[in-house]
Amino acid sequence: ASRSVCFKRHVCSSPSRLQGCMSAWVIDQYGTNEVLRYTEDLTAPSVNAASEVMIKVHSASLNPLDVSMRGGYGAKLLRLRRDPMSVMDSDREFPLVLGRDVSGVVVDCGSEVTHFVPGDEVWAAVPPWKPGSLSEYVVLTEYEVSLKPKSLSHTEAASIPYVANTALSALVNAGGLCKDSASNKRVLITGGSGGIGTFSIQLLKAWGAHVTVTCSQNAEGLVRGLGADEVVDYTAEDATEQLETMEKFDVILDNVGGETEEWAMGLLKPWSGAKYVTLVSPLLLSTDSMGLLDGAFRAGFTLHNKAVQNIISSGVFYRWGFYTPDGPALDEISKLVDAGKILPVVEAQFPFTQVPQAFQKLEEGHARGKTVVRVA
Ligand code: NDP
Repeated sequence: ASRSVCFKRHVCSSPSRLQGCMSAWVIDQYGTNEVLRYTEDLTAPSVNAASEVMIKVHSASLNPLDVSMRGGYGAKLLRLRRDPMSVMDSDREFPLVLGRDVSGVVVDCGSEVTHFVPGDEVWAAVPPWKPGSLSEYVVLTEYEVSLKPKSLSHTEAASIPYVANTALSALVNAGGLCKDSASNKRVLITGGSGGIGTFSIQLLKAWGAHVTVTCSQNAEGLVRGLGADEVVDYTAEDATEQLETMEKFDVILDNVGGETEEWAMGLLKPWSGAKYVTLVSPLLLSTDSMGLLDGAFRAGFTLHNKAVQNIISSGVFYRWGFYTPDGPALDEISKLVDAGKILPVVEAQFPFTQVPQAFQKLEEGHARGKTVVRVA
C-alpha cells in the first residue's frame, strides 16, 4: 500500500526538548520473569534522524516474541541488526526494553517527517531490533508508524499492530493473497484463537475469503463471532479426519508449527498454486544455537529442502512468514477497523505497575486474543 502524498510537510523545531530520563521495564540479562526490572532512570530516546518520530506511549501489548526475547531468543541475529559493524560490547543491548506494540501520541518529529505532526494519535509495531514500548517513549521511523483508528481507544489499538503487520506479511507476501484476490479463496488458520489468529480471521473475512479455523473447543464461540466459517476442535480425536473430509484449501496459515506440517500439507489443493505459510520457523533458534552463519545456512537448507520436496510431490508452495514493519499497511487496517470490519480482541489488561504479571499471563498460554499494558 502506498501513502497519499497530500500530507502537509511539517518541520518540527526542537528534537531534543524531551531528552532526559523516562520510566520503563527493562532486562539487564536474559532469563525468566525475575529479570524484568522497573526503572525511572532510563535515558529517554530522542529524534536523531530526519525521518524519525518520537511517540509518547499510552498503551503497549505483549506477544509471544516478548517472552522468547526475554529468554534470549534471536539474540545473535538481533544484535547483528542493531550493530552491523559489531562495534559495541557483546552485552551492549542491555538494558533492553521489550514490548512490540504501541498506541500513543507523537511528541516530536525529524526535519523530513511528512506524514505526522506532534499531537497526532498513532499506532505502530516496534521492530524487534529497536527499544520496545514498555517505556514512556519510543522512537520509530515514520514509515513504521500510522495514524491510529479513530474508533479505538489506545488500549484497544495497542492490541493490533504487531499481529497485523505479521499477518499481512504472511498472507500477502508469502501467501499471495490480497483484498482483490482473496474472495472465495479457502483458507485454513491453525491456532485461530490467539493474537495472530483472531486478527487474521477478521482480515480474511473482510477480504471475502472462506475461513476454517483450528482451536480448542472453548474458543469456538470467539472465532465464530469473529467470522470463522468452519471450526475444528484440534483436541478432538478425529480432528485431522474432519479436516480431510473438507474441500481442499488454497492457503494454510500455520500459527502452531511443530507436527502441523506433517498432516497439513495434504489439505492443500494440489498443482494449483496453493501455499502453506508457517509463522513458526527455526531461523532464530538455529542462529542462537549454531551461530549466525551456520544457523542461517542450516535454516536456509531446511527451507530449500522442504520447498523443493513439496513442489515436486504435490505442486504446493512451502513458505515461512515473518513480521515486517509497515506503517502504510497499518493505514489500510485502520480503514477496516474504523469501518467496523476488524475488532480489537483484548483478553486482558494490566497497569504499567504489573508488567511481570502480564508476562506471566502470556506464559500460561491459551491466549484468546491479546494482552495489553496501559503505560500512560
Ligand atoms: P498466541 O499465544 O497469541 O496464540 C496461540 C494460540 O494457539 C492460542 O490461542 C492457543 O490456545 C492456540 N493453540 C495452541 N496449540 C494449538 C494447536 N495445536 N492447534 C490449534 N491451536 C492451538 O500466539 P500468536 O497468535 O501471537 O502467534 C502464533 C505463533 O506465531 C507463535 O508461535 C508466535 O511465536 C509466532 N509468530 C511468529 C512471527 C514471525 O515473525 N515469524 C511473528 C508473530 C508470531 P489453546 O492452547 O488454548 O488451544
